[in-house]
Amino acid sequence: MEYNDLYNACQQIKQKDVKAPWFMLGKTDVKNCNGCHQNMGMSAKDLVLKVFEKCAGKAGCDVCRLHMEDDCLFFPELYRLNDQAEASSRPVCTKDLRQLLNSCTMCGLCPCQDIKMIILQAKAAFIDEDGISLSGRILSDVAAVGCLGSEFSRVVNRLNRLTPVSSILKKALNVHPERHLHVFPKESFFLWAKKRGLNSPKDNKSQFSSKVAYFAGCSAGYLFPEVGKAAVRILEQNNIEVFIPPQECCGMPLIVEGDKKTALKKIQGNMESLLRSVKNGYDIVCSCPTCGYFFKKLLLENAYYSDAFQEESGAGNNVMKVPFGPGKNNFTTVPKGIYQKILKDEGYFSLLDPLKRIELSNKIKDMGEYLLSIQANSKLILNPARPDTPMIYYAPCHQMEQEIGQPYYNLLKFFPGSDIIQIGGSMQCCGMGGHLGYKTSFHPHSLRIGQSLFKRFLSEKDRTIITDCLSCRIQFQQTMSRKVFHPLEVM
Ligand code: SF4
Ligand code: SF4
Repeated sequence: MEYNDLYNACQQIKQKDVKAPWFMLGKTDVKNCNGCHQNMGMSAKDLVLKVFEKCAGKAGCDVCRLHMEDDCLFFPELYRLNDQAEASSRPVCTKDLRQLLNSCTMCGLCPCQDIKMIILQAKAAFIDEDGISLSGRILSDVAAVGCLGSEFSRVVNRLNRLTPVSSILKKALNVHPERHLHVFPKESFFLWAKKRGLNSPKDNKSQFSSKVAYFAGCSAGYLFPEVGKAAVRILEQNNIEVFIPPQECCGMPLIVEGDKKTALKKIQGNMESLLRSVKNGYDIVCSCPTCGYFFKKLLLENAYYSDAFQEESGAGNNVMKVPFGPGKNNFTTVPKGIYQKILKDEGYFSLLDPLKRIELSNKIKDMGEYLLSIQANSKLILNPARPDTPMIYYAPCHQMEQEIGQPYYNLLKFFPGSDIIQIGGSMQCCGMGGHLGYKTSFHPHSLRIGQSLFKRFLSEKDRTIITDCLSCRIQFQQTMSRKVFHPLEVM
């Protein structure tokens, strides 16, 4: 049952009050269906209150009161609201709960996966209940904005340079007046790739040592095509066939905004397209750490608990096979009688095929990770233009959350004569949060979160800033007016 069919069936049932079909029995309270069964029976408000209960309630954990004090807006505000409610004996109002949710950028830095997923579910439930604002819809649709912006870049950039026009546009889109609007490239990466025939597989495969299907994502695809081009050049230089498969936005900006329905449609399309490439022998590689974090970590949520995986793994009638410990291939078994009631594939993405989610999550690699694996066999050919340029490298949150080490830093520091230092601890975020950093309400907070990082960069004025996250790049360019490069461009 595909997502769209299930969603449509669900909507029909809601409207016509018909009996739930077999595939929904035992899973849903159809009357309360918000379009996806995992929110059944729980309102947006109840979902946020669940986070309060788990993280700040009387028997709550409370670890993030200190742990997330500086680099996250969500937790400090959650504890403030909680303490205020306790002191006044008045519950937190819905408006405050909604604002609280808007403050989570899904940077991924907080420790508990289940809490992050409840936050995402609550964001989606609020949109289901109240609808999405036009500005939220436009800003979170990075692919549409990027596609139009690059298609009509001459006109759009010229208009954006005119202060009265950009002021009206910012107001209409709820963009903060001080946020710089993006200068769109003359040609998107996707158009460039199409002109070079990269959107169809090559006929003569024998001349290549391996093949890569490259997921550029919206940021390299539409906003910074030079990064996508650098990725292609490095792969081709290493005799690797590059194929740009049909692709949509990974879904992260939509998920962060709460537009779950649109996100799931795009994710479904990407899963089909990328797994088709896997079947045809391609390695799947992406250069955007947010896309990588999404595919590897978020999309995998609960997929191993699904009946389909349990059956495929041969776990049998008495035990469940479940992930255990670090790394991808570590599993343990637990008694089925007890755990099957708790461990279920009932999460944000459970309407999507769990086996496909697992397969894609395990197959996709970050470009740095992929190149480092080639270098491990001493085969990587790189031609850095100016390896001795002093560089300062920042590993973004979503790269660290992938738990792949720091491949780009390791690659860059091994250039002969390389002069590179690294900054950013495991808890330092630039604060941009993708499209959220543009929003009027979020922009000042976004700058506040990134402040310690900006100061560190300013103390290293002579070094070129290198980071693999293009959202961080937008933030650094906004605050420091300094050039920022993706490691692939340096290579
Ligand atoms: S996110 Fe996890 S560690 Fe942090 S307070 Fe909540 S339950 Fe505790
Ligand atoms: S994902 Fe990031 S912004 Fe959201 S609650 Fe966790 S640390 Fe805070």
